[in-house]
Amino acid sequence: MADDLVCAACSGRVLDGGCATCRLSRTSLPQDRLPAQAFLVLAAVLALLLVLTSAF
Ligand SMILES: [Zn+2]
Repeated sequence: MADDLVCAACSGRVLDGGCATCRLSRTSLPQDRLPAQAFLVLAAVLALLLVLTSAF
């Protein structure tokens, strides 16, 4: 769905990064990787908690 975003400034696809507005929007768009890493950290913390709580 984010692929279909059309820039209001240059009427091009935001993904193409045709203008400064596109690039600005594009940098704020890909948030898929950050939550994935945050999820991994969260999973690691949960696993650690599980190990700690089961040890007692
Ligand atoms: Zn643009």
